[in-house]
Amino acid sequence: MQIVLASSNKHKVQEINDIVKEKGLDLEFILPPSNFDPEENGTTFEENSYIKAYEAWKLSKTWVLADDSGLCIDTLGGKPGIYSARYAETPALRIARVLKELKGTENRNAHFTCAMTLINPKGEVAYKVEGICEGSIIEETRGSNGFGYDPIFLVKGDTRTMAELPEYEKNKISHRSSALRSVLDFLQTII
Ligand code: IMP
Repeated sequence: MQIVLASSNKHKVQEINDIVKEKGLDLEFILPPSNFDPEENGTTFEENSYIKAYEAWKLSKTWVLADDSGLCIDTLGGKPGIYSARYAETPALRIARVLKELKGTENRNAHFTCAMTLINPKGEVAYKVEGICEGSIIEETRGSNGFGYDPIFLVKGDTRTMAELPEYEKNKISHRSSALRSVLDFLQTII
């Protein structure tokens, strides 16, 4: 079964495909048509994942899975949140902004969230779920794996940042993998 993955982020596509492979499922995730350009103007991760999924469905009229994710920091009232990808111009500047905003702050608790929406060929929401990964923000960057805010995100119960985990370990605990595993469990009941 083919499912359009409503995303153009190669790292995400790679992570998702790795988890599907590991589960040994007969699923193939394919990229949306090149004119896929959703306007992410929702106010929550859930809304944005629906917007992306529905845009990709309008172009493909087949099964579509979309995700919307980001970093939420407690003392910043959940920021950068849905603005994670747009918090500054480059990944390095986004990290620098977060570290500046947290300077001198004791409570550095944070979590990654990933909302997923699965749409069926009729354009209906077949399944939706949110995955979370808890941690905290350290004061400097560590590690070179992963992407985005991984180098400053210390995984709860571990001594390593997300960027210090090998890919297969990140895939066991990440917000995206927890949401995806739930979607895959659902898909297994219908394929
Ligand atoms: P999205 O593509 O709209 O879901 O935006 C996600 C943004 O949140 C990314 O560009 C990253 O800045 C951040 N983000 C989401 N998931 C992760 C992750 O697993 N590691 C690090 N940053 C992430």
